[in-house]
Amino acid sequence: MARILSIHAHPDDSEILAGGTLALLAKAGHELTIATFTPGDCGSAELSPDEIAAIRRLEAANAAALIAARYLCIEMRDMAVFNDDPSRRRVVSILRRTQPQIVLTAAPSDYHCDHEAASALVRDACFAAPAPNYQTPGEPAAAPLAAIPHLYFMDPVEGRDREGNLVEPDMVVDVTAVFARKREMLAAHASQRAWLKHHHGTDDYLDHMERTTRERGELVGVSYGEGFRHYRVHPYPQTPLLEELLGNDCRPYARRS
Ligand SMILES: [Zn+2]
Repeated sequence: MARILSIHAHPDDSEILAGGTLALLAKAGHELTIATFTPGDCGSAELSPDEIAAIRRLEAANAAALIAARYLCIEMRDMAVFNDDPSRRRVVSILRRTQPQIVLTAAPSDYHCDHEAASALVRDACFAAPAPNYQTPGEPAAAPLAAIPHLYFMDPVEGRDREGNLVEPDMVVDVTAVFARKREMLAAHASQRAWLKHHHGTDDYLDHMERTTRERGELVGVSYGEGFRHYRVHPYPQTPLLEELLGNDCRPYARRS
């Protein structure tokens, strides 16, 4: 069984972009952790940062529990995720605590600055985590990773980069069989319905997720899908480990760009 870390900026990002894939991996018996950089402290127009953060940590833990995953928060703050030295060391701490063979994270180009910073931090933390001389804060320090983990970027939100261009995946995971579970995981983030209506003008975040998951599925002719890009640049592992774990549920996609 593999250890898999899904790490994204905010509570609900992993559920929106990879919840179905995580549910499939959980069904197969793999060990899953969902981590966020922040507890979503800006996700309310009514509650204080500490009040909404407390609610959202619980929502994220409840969503993770639906697939027997654990939830961890790096405890940075919304709109304050930066690609700097102390932040990278904190991400390496999470990697060493969870010892993943596979890491799923944010797309390099996405609509939110925290998503883009998270993506770069995770990419570089994967490189640093096996190096014994790279030190991390906190006690007790966990052991360095045995190797750089297999790294996969999730789709950006709505499948588009910052300029609005479609980001084509390397593969689309058919999540049709677990779509109800994905919807249930996202519904655990109940506080976000009010917030997204207030700030994003999205009337129902569940329907929005359903539409974007359906659009990703259309790329490979399935009802619901989630796209990923495998980061294969030297010296990151190039073997298709996630694809092998997912078997027929993972459909290759020939990028045109
Ligand atoms: Zn986010």
